Amino acid sequence: MKLLEDRILKDGKILEGNVLKVDSFLNHQIDVGLLGKMGAEWKRLFVEEGITKILTIEASGIGIACIAAEHFNVPVVFAKKSKSTNIGADLYRASVESYTHGTVYDVVVSKKYISPEDRILIIDDFLANGNALLGLIDICKAGGCVVAGIGVAIEKAYQGGGDKVRALGYRVESLAKIKEMNEKDGVIFE
Ligand code: 5GP
Repeated sequence: MKLLEDRILKDGKILEGNVLKVDSFLNHQIDVGLLGKMGAEWKRLFVEEGITKILTIEASGIGIACIAAEHFNVPVVFAKKSKSTNIGADLYRASVESYTHGTVYDVVVSKKYISPEDRILIIDDFLANGNALLGLIDICKAGGCVVAGIGVAIEKAYQGGGDKVRALGYRVESLAKIKEMNEKDGVIFE
């Protein structure tokens, strides 16, 4: 999506550890108009899929998912980060290795909010190694629902997570796909 790529080139900052900082429009201050256009693009791509719910992960996925949800006219459920090790009978739980912090944390979704009738669109801001998406996929599997598609804002394709998730048979649509990124050459898209 050219609009998002241009914005990354204009305002994205490359940090150490292969981190792209997009705090001025996506992750801290939010450009709602841009998110609206991203939501419209995912709607166009997944219009045939009969999406009943959008699933994301707190915190940075929530804004993107909510604005996308307006285009699909469906609710958003976000997986909550959980410190408790209780395996609550009313929760689905998955472990996720954090890309930015290097730690492992659990995410939970209440059994009330996903069900086998659901056709889920998973949405997240970044795709790097794929761990966040794999955690959300595990939660959908536990809930018996269909993952009808995955929408990612920015995929760092050279980190392999997208290949891993696509190899499992899921359709992943990334609106900006980074082929390479370094301080010397900047961000290069596929
Ligand atoms: P993965 O689980 O695919 O390795 O990483 C995805 C998660 O890590 C996303 O939910 C996002 O929060 C975070 N992340 C990964 N790479 C980046 C990055 O380059 N910039 C930012 N801001 N977050 C990232």
